[in-house]
Amino acid sequence: MKTFCGRANPTTGAIEWLEEDENYDYHQEIARSRYADMLHDKDRNVKYYQGIRAAVSRVKERGEKAIVLDIGTGTGLLSMMAASAGADFCYAVEVFKPMANAAVKIVEKNGFRDKIKVINKHSTEVTVGPDGDMHCRANILVTELFDTELIGEGALPTYEHAHKYLVEEGCEAVPHRATVYVQLVESKRMWSWNKLFPVRVEAEDGEKIIVSPSDMENCPGVPSVCDIQLNQMPSSDFTILSDVVTMFSVDFSNPVSSASTYYRVQLEPVKSGKAQIVLSWWDIDMDPAGMINCTMAPYWAKSTSDFQWRDHWMQCVYFLPNEEPVLQGETVYLTACRDAYSVWYKLQKAREGETKAGGRVESPVCRCQAHLLWNRPRFGQLNDQDRTHQYIKSLMKVLQRDSVCLCISDGSLLPVLAHYLGAKQFLKANNLEDKIKIIEARPELLTSSHLEDKKISVLIGEPFFTTSLLPWHNLYFWYARTAVTGHLTSDVTVLPQSASLHMMIVEFEDLWRIRSPCGICEGFDVQTMDDMIKNSLNFRESKEAEPHPLWEYPCKSLCDPQEVLTFDFRKTVPQHCVSTEGSVNLVRKGKSHGAVLWMEYNLAADISISTGLMQISNEKGNCEWNPHCKQAVYFFSSVIESETPSDLPSAVTYAINFDTKTGEIAMDFKL
Ligand code: SAH
Repeated sequence: MKTFCGRANPTTGAIEWLEEDENYDYHQEIARSRYADMLHDKDRNVKYYQGIRAAVSRVKERGEKAIVLDIGTGTGLLSMMAASAGADFCYAVEVFKPMANAAVKIVEKNGFRDKIKVINKHSTEVTVGPDGDMHCRANILVTELFDTELIGEGALPTYEHAHKYLVEEGCEAVPHRATVYVQLVESKRMWSWNKLFPVRVEAEDGEKIIVSPSDMENCPGVPSVCDIQLNQMPSSDFTILSDVVTMFSVDFSNPVSSASTYYRVQLEPVKSGKAQIVLSWWDIDMDPAGMINCTMAPYWAKSTSDFQWRDHWMQCVYFLPNEEPVLQGETVYLTACRDAYSVWYKLQKAREGETKAGGRVESPVCRCQAHLLWNRPRFGQLNDQDRTHQYIKSLMKVLQRDSVCLCISDGSLLPVLAHYLGAKQFLKANNLEDKIKIIEARPELLTSSHLEDKKISVLIGEPFFTTSLLPWHNLYFWYARTAVTGHLTSDVTVLPQSASLHMMIVEFEDLWRIRSPCGICEGFDVQTMDDMIKNSLNFRESKEAEPHPLWEYPCKSLCDPQEVLTFDFRKTVPQHCVSTEGSVNLVRKGKSHGAVLWMEYNLAADISISTGLMQISNEKGNCEWNPHCKQAVYFFSSVIESETPSDLPSAVTYAINFDTKTGEIAMDFKL
């Protein structure tokens, strides 16, 4: 069956109707899924296996049959572990049909057909009884339903239901419990993802400071968690204000409630400072005694050296509603509020009256709109002083007293900067009412009355658009520029004047795992899953590059960065495709996991900014990436290890094509 789906093309802006294969969504979901990452998570797998063996033994020692319920079985891994550990029967529940099908195949291939029943349902639809999905309630409950925030994937309601309807009272649960930890910190870097800092502009008539309006200053922001690879945050980027403390824990072997509630802890700051951020992570004990523990603690909070990289579970950054000065040794109270799916935090100086009956606590709501318009990296980008400075320098070069400017970018501060730098008329921006006019129209619908019959002499853009996922989606600026051509003066200045696409071959320290086949996992053959991922990756769009914020994922460059395509914004978008072919020599030994691509914008002569590589920091080839942008990663389907001695340089050939009609970039690499 084919269906038609409408969408706005992120690059060209055109509304298009795409004919979708009915399997399309599922291919995207499998291709971009975390299953491979989970199967590569040795620490997790080993500990689940130990916990499951221990639980089966405890049940057997009581002389009972071991009946297992595995909710969210995925590949069937945890059920196969249970069956191998001697469980009498396993019910493996999986809601996602393609995965349930894969689980059936994997279970069969590994010889567990008689021991494991795969049920393709959401656990809350599962029935128990002689004619039900399960013949009886289970006495062992195995799940892996956690996300970085622990409860974001619905673990609480799922457990709540399972205890009511699917498992026996006093069942053994693997994991047995989860504990959430918090630490209070001050961090200018992380706070810059949540508040707009004052912007300094050196204008002809003295320094101007752009400050955010007070409703923005006092806005509690949005409640959604910010999850990152905290291990990539150098300790110099934050100041620890409290010890690590336990915020709350959940016992999975007893009835669980998903109702909203709150938890409060007392903290003695270990240092005076500005409390801005709550860092948080969790661990799970696979057994009641807590001997088998799997932790997400970041590098400074854990003693073990056996560090496990994983991307399916990271760490959480929570922004306090306001920054709060705290004094060393002067007690403060931290409250974690949660509903069924998310957590948010408050800090109080004194023990205020307990929150209203029932522990009901309102989640923060953004009042200033900025947190809805700008996501965390965007806040960070707007607060990047160096970047702002490059724009200011370029604007000073191009602006004249009588310039009439048009800015095309989402949620941009450029109009305000340009105004302070002396542009006479500015169209589109925030609230300098008579100087800056916001036009609520798509570029192709711009009329001369919007422009008060003036012609645009300076067209500017960062460019940045909220709809952009991949670096080249911001080429929408070029299409918009083409659409407004009729409104431009003949000698219009366009800033940036051009953009260029850059490419580099890299070896990832860890990110390769998320797209790499697993083969055998803890003795179980999961190749069916590998094949399924491979098949989905080969499926149309899934084969494209994918966006990743590379500051979180260390890699080393294997070749010099290459400029592969340029886009001249001074001209309109051409009718024909823009393409290139070439080859790069590998200059370092390493595994070619993939190519990284990013855009650089040439703002004005001699001033350019990179949304990707900032520098190669040492002779080992370690890369430093723009911390506010995602780069495009194209994973090679097979990894080639090069032993490149200097006399025999191996090369990678590439062909890259930008289709100006569709705005898509297709690429092909040969190693
Ligand atoms: N147990 C596997 C996979 C874990 S991923 C492993 O440990 O490797 C979690 C899986 O649970 C996903 O496939 C998701 O589709 C499924 N899932 C989540 N909640 C569920 C529920 N309530 N009922 C059934 N499946 C669920």
